[in-house]
Amino acid sequence: MSSDSRFVDLSNSLESVPVLIEQTSSVLTFPQFQYSPDNVQGPGSTLDPSEVTLPGCSCLSHSCSSESCSCLQTHGQAYDSTHTLLHRTHSGFCSPVFECNALCSCGEACSNRVVQRGLTLKLEVYSTEKRGWGVRTLKSIPKGTFVCEYAGEVISFEEARRRQLAQRAEDNNYIIAVREHAGEGSVTETFVDPARVGNVGRFLNHSCQPNLLMQPVRVHSVVPRLALFAGRSIDAREELTFDYSGGYRNRAPAQRDAGTRSETQRDAGTQSETQRDAGTQSETQRDAGTRRDAGTRSETQRDAGTQSETQRDAGTQSENHGVQRKECHCGAKSCVQFLPLDLSIISGKR
Ligand SMILES: [Zn+2]
Ligand SMILES: [Zn+2]
Ligand SMILES: [Zn+2]
Repeated sequence: MSSDSRFVDLSNSLESVPVLIEQTSSVLTFPQFQYSPDNVQGPGSTLDPSEVTLPGCSCLSHSCSSESCSCLQTHGQAYDSTHTLLHRTHSGFCSPVFECNALCSCGEACSNRVVQRGLTLKLEVYSTEKRGWGVRTLKSIPKGTFVCEYAGEVISFEEARRRQLAQRAEDNNYIIAVREHAGEGSVTETFVDPARVGNVGRFLNHSCQPNLLMQPVRVHSVVPRLALFAGRSIDAREELTFDYSGGYRNRAPAQRDAGTRSETQRDAGTQSETQRDAGTQSETQRDAGTRRDAGTRSETQRDAGTQSETQRDAGTQSENHGVQRKECHCGAKSCVQFLPLDLSIISGKR
C-alpha cells in the first residue's frame, strides 16, 4: 500500500463513514477479506440475518416510549433518549436488547434504533506495536455509545468446529460464540466468523481490561448482532479493545504460566449468556470453555503444543486438546497472560 493508504476506506463506501487504514508497518500484511457491514448467512446456518423475522410496534410517535410501545414493553428499554446504552449489567449479567425494526411504525429517530444506524464514528485500523493490526478511534467516545458491530458470517456449530480444527497455530481465530439462555434451559447459540467476510470489528484486539463491551442486539432478525459499546469514556486515538470471551468485567482464571512469546492474535470464542424472565439476565463469560454456572476454570500448559484443560460444572469434565493458546499482550494490570479460547467449539461439547 502506498503512503496514501491512510485515505483508503476499508469499507469501500459500504459504511456511512469511511474506515481509515494507517499502515506504518512493512512487516504486517493486510489480510484478504470481503468487507460487509452486516452479518451474512454462512455455511450451515439456517437463518438469513437479513430477513425480517421479528414483529414491530405500531407507535406513531417520533420516538417510542415505554408507556405505549410494544417493543419496549416486551423487551425493556435499552437506550436513553440520546441513544446511549443504559447500564443494565450487574456482575457480568446483561439483559438482551431488541431494537425497533423495519416493521415498526415509529420514525427513524426513535431512541430504540441505535445499532441499525451503523457506524457513525471515525475509526482507524492501524498497526500496533506488539499486537498486529488494531483499531483506534480518532475522536473521543462517551460511555455507552455504540461503536461498531462484530459482523461476519453466521455459521453453524459444526462449521465453527470444522474451521477451528482446520486452523494452524499461526492462524487467527476470529470465531465468536454467543450463547443466550432464554429460561427453561433453552439456549440460543450464534457463531460469527468475520475471517472471510467481516467488518472493522475483525481488527479489534483483545484486552483483559477492555474499553468496549459486547452486547447481543436484535434488530430485524432473530439472529443477534454482536454490538460493541463504549464501556467507559474513551479518549481520541485510544485503541479500542474488547474481551474476546465477551465479558466486560473479567473474572480472571489463575493462569500465570510463562509461555513462549507469540504474536497476539485473535484466538478466542466469546460466550455470552442471556437468561430471561425469572432473572432476566445475560451473561458474558471469559473463555477457555469457561462456563459460568459452576464457577469453572481453565488451564493451559505444555511445551510446544499447548494443551488445555477445561473443567465444567463442578469439574466433571476434563479434556485435552492440541490447541495452542496465545499470549496476551494487552498490558493491563489484570492481564491473565493468555488470550481466551473457547474450547467448547473444538471439543464438540456444549
Ligand atoms: Zn421505535
Ligand atoms: Zn414503538
Ligand atoms: Zn418498535
